[in-house]
Amino acid sequence: MTKPDFSKLTKDNIVDFIGDIFLRRGADSYLGEDVTMSEHMLQGAQLAEQAGANEEAIASALLHDIGHYTNEFPEDALEKGVNNYHDEAGAFVLKRFFPQSVTDCVQQHVAAKRYLCAVDPEYLNLLSDASVHTLKLQGGPMDRHEVDAFEEQPHLDTIIQVRKWDDEGKVAGVKTPDYDHYAPLLQRIVDRHAGTID
Ligand code: FE
Repeated sequence: MTKPDFSKLTKDNIVDFIGDIFLRRGADSYLGEDVTMSEHMLQGAQLAEQAGANEEAIASALLHDIGHYTNEFPEDALEKGVNNYHDEAGAFVLKRFFPQSVTDCVQQHVAAKRYLCAVDPEYLNLLSDASVHTLKLQGGPMDRHEVDAFEEQPHLDTIIQVRKWDDEGKVAGVKTPDYDHYAPLLQRIVDRHAGTID
């Protein structure tokens, strides 16, 4: 299938474009967890919504793993040489359309796990087996220098909160709204963001 040029993605079709990925690829398994990818991301969004989070935080929870699907994005969406870890890649494809308050949460959700393991001894016990396994591959808990640097970020609190919804959103059989429920919220964020850069 030919993919569109990245330049053909606009603020008016990006939300449908992501929805199409959810529809076609959402049933993919989520790396050793008991839920599919779309169940996982929708559970995260639902937890955010139930917590009364703002729209950007809900969108971040919904989209945090979109980087697993960057092969669905046009080839020119990813710069040559950019590292293709799913956190970095996800933030990269979103940043043309979404504000930094969202892309930071996407980009930092793996680092946030490494951070929380360093500062909260209880946190490791909350992680799924698959997540403990990948922690090792991702560099293990942060050292003190990394912790200090991580805490300098403007969206630290939301980044940590999104990470916790990520960890909680892995329960088989939980009913959630579908992507269409969140599409208007995503569109409002995209439109607001476009208003700041036009
Ligand atoms: Fe996740």
